[in-house]
Amino acid sequence: MPFTSDHELFRKTVRDFAEKELLPNRKEWEAARQFPEELFKRAGQLGFFGICYPESVGGSGADYWFKAVFCEEMVRCRMAGLLMDFLVQADIATPVIQTLGTEEQKREFLIPAIRGEKIAALGVTEPGCGSDVASLQTRAEKKGDDYVINGAKMFCTNGGRADFITLAVRTGAPGHRGISLLLFPTDAKGFRVGRKLEKIGNHTSDTALLHFEGCRIPRRYLLGEENQGFKYIMNNFQGERLVAALISVAGSQLALDDAVRYTREREAFGKRVLDFQVWQHRFADLETAIEAARRLTYHAVSLFDQKKECTREISMAKLFAGDLAQRVAYDCLQAHGGYGYMEEYDIARFTRDIRLITIGAGTSEIMKEIIARRMGLLDS
Ligand SMILES: Cc1cc2nc3c(=O)[nH]c(=O)nc-3n(C[C@H](O)[C@H](O)[C@H](O)COP(=O)(O)OP(=O)(O)OC[C@H]3O[C@@H](n4cnc5c(N)ncnc54)[C@H](O)[C@@H]3O)c2cc1C
Repeated sequence: MPFTSDHELFRKTVRDFAEKELLPNRKEWEAARQFPEELFKRAGQLGFFGICYPESVGGSGADYWFKAVFCEEMVRCRMAGLLMDFLVQADIATPVIQTLGTEEQKREFLIPAIRGEKIAALGVTEPGCGSDVASLQTRAEKKGDDYVINGAKMFCTNGGRADFITLAVRTGAPGHRGISLLLFPTDAKGFRVGRKLEKIGNHTSDTALLHFEGCRIPRRYLLGEENQGFKYIMNNFQGERLVAALISVAGSQLALDDAVRYTREREAFGKRVLDFQVWQHRFADLETAIEAARRLTYHAVSLFDQKKECTREISMAKLFAGDLAQRVAYDCLQAHGGYGYMEEYDIARFTRDIRLITIGAGTSEIMKEIIARRMGLLDS
């Protein structure tokens, strides 16, 4: 196994946080459709947003296996929405600042995000386009020393309370060559949170529609080079998809363990439900598939940790683990009978929450496109 005693110590810290500080609040925060904002600071103090960032920006400089541990243990809070907001903060909206940002940009945006003092969001998807990133319309025009931004962003996680947004905008011609990334402070005039979106799951996550109407921000907030944004976004997607695979595997394992425990206690026709061979075999199938998903994901983690090109492996891990999690949710809810359909059982929430994983961060169809392209199938 790749984990050392240091990883295991960290595992205990994350598990304690998830099970003692978060889990007991799940019903209240799910009903409120949010978790307290102070938790960003608390997680920042615990070092959870800086796991793999270098010490120079306030991170721990740890290897990516610590990130795997974080994902594996955080699912135990059983609020996929909260976990998603945390992952946006550390793995989705900010890695590109570490890769491309100037010292000034890191000081103003990345360091406070790692500390949990500023909330970060990523704005790529728009009302008219998601998978087809190259067709985004939100425009940034150069005016003097500023960019003036007009447009809208859809499904923006942390969008309702973000202090800044890593924002994809069109600065050039139509298509993928005309896109740039900007760091957008949400106190800019003309920015407006349109509405908080009501979802079928991930209730503790803040998901918003955002409007930009003549927003002026300084040109020094450009990340990297102008019109190179599409490439930056595609690179940034890799970490996002890898954490999605990790939480799919860990969430699936937790759901299966719950179902085994439940069927061990529940009786029907004078015996435990688990004593029916159909359930023993179904659980054996799921355990085998989850182990396969874990191995595929760990392989991607290992390559990513060594900074090797692994788009193919990450796409496969997200595709396989995300699709499998749907089957796990279905079977494990079925094993609970009517109780599985009740809000008070965690499997009900898991079923709703995990549905997102084959859509967000690139759909399963897009993962297949990427894999097919790497097989050379799109050129033939
Ligand atoms: C809760 C939630 C949170 C999100 N958070 C964020 C966020 O923080 N920031 C952000 O930028 N985005 C976010 N998203 C957006 C998410 O990444 C997109 O929803 C996703 O990329 C799909 O885009 P779309 O919804 O526009 O679907 P579309 O692109 O319109 O796709 C519709 C269907 O067509 C299929 N399809 C599209 N293209 C192809 C193709 N080439 N071949 C075959 N099938 C295809 C898709 O797979 C899908 O099944 C979030 C979404 C949700 C639901």
